[in-house]
Amino acid sequence: MPDLTDNALLNGYDMALKTNTKPANDRIGWRFDNSYARLPQSFYAQLHPVPVRAPQVGILNHALAESLGLDFCTLSEEEAALLFSGNALPDSMQPIAQAYAGHQFGNFTMLGDGRAILLGEHLTPAGKRYDIQLKGSGQTPFSRHGDGRAALAPMLREYIISEAMHALDIPTTRSLAVVTTGESVMRETMLPGAILTRVAASHIRVGTFEYVARTGDKAGIKTLTDYVIQRHYPGLSEAENPYLALLNRVIERQASLVAKWLLVGFIHGVMNTDNMAISGETIDYGPCAFMDAYDPDTVFSSIDYHGRYSYSNQPHMAQWNLTRFAETLLPLIHPEQEKAVALAEQAIHAFPEIYQAHWIAGMQKKLGFFTEDAGDTELIADLLTWMYKHKADYTRSFHALASEDFPKDAVFQDAEYVEWHARWQARLSIQSEPSASALCLMRANNPAIIPRNHRVEEALAAASERGDYSLMHRLLAAVTNPYTDAPEYSDYCTPPAPSEGVYQTFCGT
Ligand code: AMP
Ligand code: MG
Repeated sequence: MPDLTDNALLNGYDMALKTNTKPANDRIGWRFDNSYARLPQSFYAQLHPVPVRAPQVGILNHALAESLGLDFCTLSEEEAALLFSGNALPDSMQPIAQAYAGHQFGNFTMLGDGRAILLGEHLTPAGKRYDIQLKGSGQTPFSRHGDGRAALAPMLREYIISEAMHALDIPTTRSLAVVTTGESVMRETMLPGAILTRVAASHIRVGTFEYVARTGDKAGIKTLTDYVIQRHYPGLSEAENPYLALLNRVIERQASLVAKWLLVGFIHGVMNTDNMAISGETIDYGPCAFMDAYDPDTVFSSIDYHGRYSYSNQPHMAQWNLTRFAETLLPLIHPEQEKAVALAEQAIHAFPEIYQAHWIAGMQKKLGFFTEDAGDTELIADLLTWMYKHKADYTRSFHALASEDFPKDAVFQDAEYVEWHARWQARLSIQSEPSASALCLMRANNPAIIPRNHRVEEALAAASERGDYSLMHRLLAAVTNPYTDAPEYSDYCTPPAPSEGVYQTFCGT
């Protein structure tokens, strides 16, 4: 661990550090058991977050705290700020920065937590294990040339989008808190700094496997893989070939995850292998956003010049990343390389079919179908083609199908749409389930409210530039109840006017 007493940064922080938060931490109910810190030391570096000047709470997620068995009720704002900035941590935490590598836009790089610290693993009263991580917590041995810090707006973006994704029933890391640091970070301009507290099933990535494989540590790969099986997929240890079974399970999880993304119009933005979690959760929200008008080529990320991570390319990129994962497992899958490759290839080649099955099943629910019909694929394709041609809003077009008052938008008066609508009605009428059940199915699968990018930007600007969190709270209230047609949030249901559209989001800030 670096000697923090040598750190000039510390001089201004005596006040913050002297405050005794031990009683507060005892009251909260942390139960730490840090299994990752018991793995080989080459997997991480032990160090504390770098303290910050003047931490203040931006937002706390009380509902998430409760579901983790944590009690924030008696936590003062001051105590919360000290805790979630990392300025004062309970002794039971064993802060580490995790080592990993990654293919970034196709190029292999050694990475690691350059601006994050894993505080430890909290066990809920039900015995579920969650990583508690600070993001933006200062430099680590993996920072390369970065300052280890994060700006407020991107941390709030992660908070909003991750909580919206959770409400949409999409596996994701969660956001427990955002604190501002009282320090500025230098980006293109000076911006307010912040730290996000992230909760995850784990932070083990495809890139974690790539890191251990690249160091040539054969025993290490087995140790990591056995650990992952035990932590995330314990049932697989009984399989005939647990390592091949793990590959298949991760393929299945990712196929299901990415299908869910496409079904709600989500674009991750930076699907590098270091941003793909082995648990199957969406992780590392950077320049992510939801698509408004349907266009398969939609890209938001300002650094994605070639559309590598465009909306419709996400399944291909997931398969590409899974191939990198499979490569690291080869020595475990079979002692003979040729046989290992054949087995891994077979598993990877199954991805498109598994993905497609998840996507079609999701689309059928969105259209209110309980069973499969031979014509469904064409019916779905025709709707999407129509949306594309008319720049129709993806979310609104699906949500309209089960609306009590069909929206009077001009686009839905189009003759081609009217013809499609009649075909869809005919298809619905041949199923035996009552139409009320079909409506229920559609309402549970077509959100009314997604965190539209122009509304996210508006909320981030208010919080980050003016310290006004009211828009953020309102947006959060709306997007965490995405299937409810709440009249008070009807303004969140409409796509941006041409003048309001936001077409770029920025990474690494
Ligand atoms: P991301 O694009 O956030 O997934 O980050 C990619 C890699 O760059 C990760 O290893 C991060 O830890 C690292 N990184 C991003 N921003 C910074 C920063 N400001 N300082 C140090 N490392 C960073
Ligand atoms: Mg990342």
